[in-house]
Amino acid sequence: MNKIKEIFNKLIKPLPIEFKLKGLNTSVFGGFDSYVLKLSQKLKTEADTNETVELIEKLEDLFSDYEDVTLDERYEKLEDAVEIINQLGQKIHRQKIFKLKNNKLEKIEKKKKQSKQSKTKASNNQKIKSEVKEGQKLPEFWQQEVRYVKGVGEYWAERLKKLEIEEVSDLLYYFPRDYNDWSKRSKIANVTAEEEVTVQGKVVNVNQIKPRQGLKIIKVGINDGTGTLYGVWFNQAYRMKYFRDKQGEIFLFSGEVKHNYGRLEINNPHYEELGGEHLHTARIVPVYPTTKGINQKKLRTIINNTLDKYSTEIPEFLPTFVLDKYNFPDLASALQDIHFPDDQQSLKLARKRFAYEELFILQLGLALKKEGVKEETPGTKHSGGQELVAQYFEKLPFDLTSAQEKVWQEIKEDMAASNQMNRLLQGDVGAGKTVVATLALLRAVGSGFQGALMAPTEILAEQHYLGLKEELAPLGIEVGLLVGSLSNSEKEEVVKQMEAGKIDIIIGTHALIQEEINFDHLGLAIVDEQHRFGVRQRATLQEKGDIPDVLVMTATPIPRTLALTVYGDLDVSVIDELPPGRKAVVTEWRTQQARSKIYSFIEEKVEDGQQAYVVCPLVEESESLDVESATEVFLRFKEEIFPDLNLGLLHGQLKSSEKEDVMEEFRKGKIDVLVSTTVIEVGVDVPNATIMVIEDAQRFGLAQLHQLRGRVGRSSYQSYCILVSDPKTDEGKERMKIMARSNDGFEIAEEDLKLRGPGEFFGTRQHGMPDLKVADIIRDQKVLEKAREDAFEVVRSDPQLNNQQHQILKKFLSKSFDYDFELIDIS
Ligand code: ADP
Ligand code: MG
Repeated sequence: MNKIKEIFNKLIKPLPIEFKLKGLNTSVFGGFDSYVLKLSQKLKTEADTNETVELIEKLEDLFSDYEDVTLDERYEKLEDAVEIINQLGQKIHRQKIFKLKNNKLEKIEKKKKQSKQSKTKASNNQKIKSEVKEGQKLPEFWQQEVRYVKGVGEYWAERLKKLEIEEVSDLLYYFPRDYNDWSKRSKIANVTAEEEVTVQGKVVNVNQIKPRQGLKIIKVGINDGTGTLYGVWFNQAYRMKYFRDKQGEIFLFSGEVKHNYGRLEINNPHYEELGGEHLHTARIVPVYPTTKGINQKKLRTIINNTLDKYSTEIPEFLPTFVLDKYNFPDLASALQDIHFPDDQQSLKLARKRFAYEELFILQLGLALKKEGVKEETPGTKHSGGQELVAQYFEKLPFDLTSAQEKVWQEIKEDMAASNQMNRLLQGDVGAGKTVVATLALLRAVGSGFQGALMAPTEILAEQHYLGLKEELAPLGIEVGLLVGSLSNSEKEEVVKQMEAGKIDIIIGTHALIQEEINFDHLGLAIVDEQHRFGVRQRATLQEKGDIPDVLVMTATPIPRTLALTVYGDLDVSVIDELPPGRKAVVTEWRTQQARSKIYSFIEEKVEDGQQAYVVCPLVEESESLDVESATEVFLRFKEEIFPDLNLGLLHGQLKSSEKEDVMEEFRKGKIDVLVSTTVIEVGVDVPNATIMVIEDAQRFGLAQLHQLRGRVGRSSYQSYCILVSDPKTDEGKERMKIMARSNDGFEIAEEDLKLRGPGEFFGTRQHGMPDLKVADIIRDQKVLEKAREDAFEVVRSDPQLNNQQHQILKKFLSKSFDYDFELIDIS
């Protein structure tokens, strides 16, 4: 045992006796106070953190005048001392030391110490040396049905199911959503209105008043010698009978004091008879999320019974190195403290552990998926295609930026290796991801495989198809297009060619991942604008081949913390630089009143030979939303505002061939102003377009606005984004300001996340985000990063978690998390 533990244990030894003697200061020869002061001095020299020193000094303070005060005051000091000792216990032994039960101070027994003998040999080459414990498995009770818990039975078990509580561990992990701190006790004479209090007194008075028809008021008075305070209930006659029988008994009342007609009362107080352990009053009382038919009292009682029964058998599954590093309480104490904390400090510590625990388990799942995939799955080896790449570079009108060059190297290496590639390519709008994707496709084809590129909209698929066909046909490469709106016979033809291996590169929408579609030899699957797809869709495309390499691309910048969570199983490449000569898009927020100025601005730019997009939120006039429809805008522009300009209209309800025609004309510069719905939101690349006007911009999310703005600023011309908006909400205004201020996709995403929260950020259905109870992805960013590091360290040292000391972790992991998230974007 180390020095600090030794001294600490010595110091606390006589405390229960001093407590029993109610502060006589005779528990130790020479005085309890001098004893404490002497040992705390020694303890201080061993303390290794400032917090520990501070706690010891508080203790010294308490006992510096112990001799001079009354017995009552000494008793209070002892109570305070217990609290400090418990906090010190957390630091030194990682658990609390004492529990006050029925006015008796009891030592909390340390959990059965597991044998240290079986130190495994297997862990010799492990970086992490965990203390190996015996019986590394979840105890039986962990997965036992709740009906066997005291106070549950069939009836309540059925009701608890509604809260998704079925096993004992579900109960233990059913955390409070809030707490009422009623730990402070007051004398009735001293209570004041609006105060949360706990008072203790004898039931002296039970009355019922009927001020009018249908209203019964029950008033129960308790007296503590300093005064009488009334608890008040409305229309709960049964309480009358209950308290009538309890006249003269001592009760605790907790709740908020109210001024009712000149008298201080507590409405609906929480109450409990004195004696025994109190759960509902006079402490920090947990408040659980609950549902009809299960009340707080019942939940508290059941959870407390569970803790009582199993606390000594609760296992620990976090690695020892983690507990040591962060000084977390062990699972048993943390569970006790998150449900029934003795004080705010232990609650805080418990929450800290569970926030970490959640993120650690999540990251562990991702780490296993990522490292496990590498370890186990031999993939497709793409080592050819050099000539094709060289030929392509010859014709490319620009050099790669160094960021593109860097990610291309990363991808090339991944593809050449025999392990499967699982890589995310991130780059802000306009960063030039398509070129990199094309290079990867060339490698695949040159190595004798087919490549597939999936895009979320037909317009984008079509654009990729036209672009690639033009660039790659001269190299003898066959490019095909598969989208939903092709005629059946056209589709059949394409599919037939794909299956026969005659098409080298297939571009498409969701149509690509339909069941009946097969490839001959798919070697590389690329998903463009990945955030528009679900993770399952990515997986489905990849299942079309025999372990193809996978590259997913996204321009929607994902805040780092979310990327670590949602894409945590992928390797990440980032293009963090725009092609040279680009000027930052100038973004202006204008109100409806500025319309005519905006129109003349557009005219001016068109005269210079540039083009504009005008994006409207809806196609059809809708009564519920006062939004101008694109069609209406188009007609008004054509007839009134820009009679001399060439206008185009694009929306989702046009036939596919009509859309193609419009885009083609816009690309060729035959359309000056393209009025469109959000169908052009992602991917569309017409460098000569330099103006983006977004109507009713407050209706769009930040991510969406940023994507739309990304349609301009794709050349060396100065581009403009004009947000026409009269936002009514503060959040709407805030969004306009952020857009005008920042061009940085990552910054915008962080802001978006703050404004909307992680659930909304990824879609109302909350897909893509694991269900976190304690941790908060935004608030706990640092914890997340640490948890990730630790989890990856564990998996690197033991890729399959086969070591004995990780068995329990593995069990816990498989039970607690389904880490196969789906990511769906709502924008
Ligand atoms: P995104 O990353 O948004 O998909 P694109 O791949 O559509 O971006 O590229 C945006 C535009 O920049 C295209 O017109 C493309 O030809 C051009 N581009 C890409 N890379 C470069 C480069 N290294 N130098 C100059 N222009 C480039
Ligand atoms: Mg793109």
